[in-house]
Amino acid sequence: MGAKTLTILGSTGSIGRNTLDVAGRFPDRFQVHALAANNNVGLLREQIETYRPAVAVAYDEEAAERLRAENPRGGATAILSGMEGLLEAAGDARVEQVVSGMVGAVGLRPTYAAIDAGKQVAVANKETLVLAGELMVRRAGETGSMLLPMDSEHNAIFQCLAGDSAGALDHIVLTASGGPFRDLPLERFPEITLEQALDHPNWKMGPKITIDSATMMNKGLEVIEAHWLFGLPPERIRVLLHRQSIVHSLVTFVDGSVIAQLGLPDMRTPISYCLGYPERLSLELPRLNLAEVGRLDFEEISPKKYGCLFLALDALELGGGAPAALNGANEEVVAAYLNGAFPFLNISEMLHRVMAGLKAVLASNEAPPCLARIDTVDDALAADRWGREAAQRLIAN
Ligand code: MG
Repeated sequence: MGAKTLTILGSTGSIGRNTLDVAGRFPDRFQVHALAANNNVGLLREQIETYRPAVAVAYDEEAAERLRAENPRGGATAILSGMEGLLEAAGDARVEQVVSGMVGAVGLRPTYAAIDAGKQVAVANKETLVLAGELMVRRAGETGSMLLPMDSEHNAIFQCLAGDSAGALDHIVLTASGGPFRDLPLERFPEITLEQALDHPNWKMGPKITIDSATMMNKGLEVIEAHWLFGLPPERIRVLLHRQSIVHSLVTFVDGSVIAQLGLPDMRTPISYCLGYPERLSLELPRLNLAEVGRLDFEEISPKKYGCLFLALDALELGGGAPAALNGANEEVVAAYLNGAFPFLNISEMLHRVMAGLKAVLASNEAPPCLARIDTVDDALAADRWGREAAQRLIAN
């Protein structure tokens, strides 16, 4: 059997770097066909030299120009750019698995292209399922594309479900670390600094998802993802605060059995499960020692501290373009927050106002069709844009 050919969308990000770390340990099993990044030319160039892909994409045109000028590998790697480049890398007939690890709505079209082409798609890009889950899952069913959940919680559930029929499942429980402020009393939330918000206690991730983890919007988006990936109604998806991030998620079966997937918090484990699927790869990583961990704590989620989780559950109940709109608004608000535009508490407050506005528009009979229904990637992006514009109006004030 030849090596599995990979396209890695988002190769310079946290998921991409960890994917290359795993793939690079098994040069006989994996061949990197294409790497795609936004504008981190320095790292992309290094990755091109190390992994020797046939194709590299810099989404940013100006970054692609700089990369071409550097002529890595004497031109042996074709340098593409823009959305066209991403779509080509994702749908390329030579590729077997596409790792969808880009951050944000920009990942939607390339991921759809991979699904459309019937690839195995390792989904780490949340927006794929949050913005257009119904569409993506339906298209995957039509093309025979297999969606492998790379997000640690969904990967955990995927592992727990192996071998059981859908009818055996009662409900699933996603665990949430609670981020850096799980022990901070609500009255002290006004003092939170950007530096504190970026300091996640358990996971090393990019800045946007780290903030989403602190607000728990991340878990809300994950509930929406789980809804589509596992075909479960919202009431059969629960969330528990679990501060140690050792139990990555749990499944309760109809006979009362609960199966959990445990491990040290290291993304390379779920990544390797997706890359190697259906086989497990032997990884030289530190092993979990439960005696060292000592205890595993579980708590209910405080709606006051983690309002963003409940906004996402609201959006899931509303359906249609509501999750896309909320996600778009969240991206704008978090980007502005990372630029120091306002204090931490304003994130949930602004998103609350966006959701109130969305409900009012939906009730008014003047809602754009994309807010009520998502039939195409364009609808999903239009709903996302609606949310972004609503957020931008609040940020500007
Ligand atoms: Mg996660």
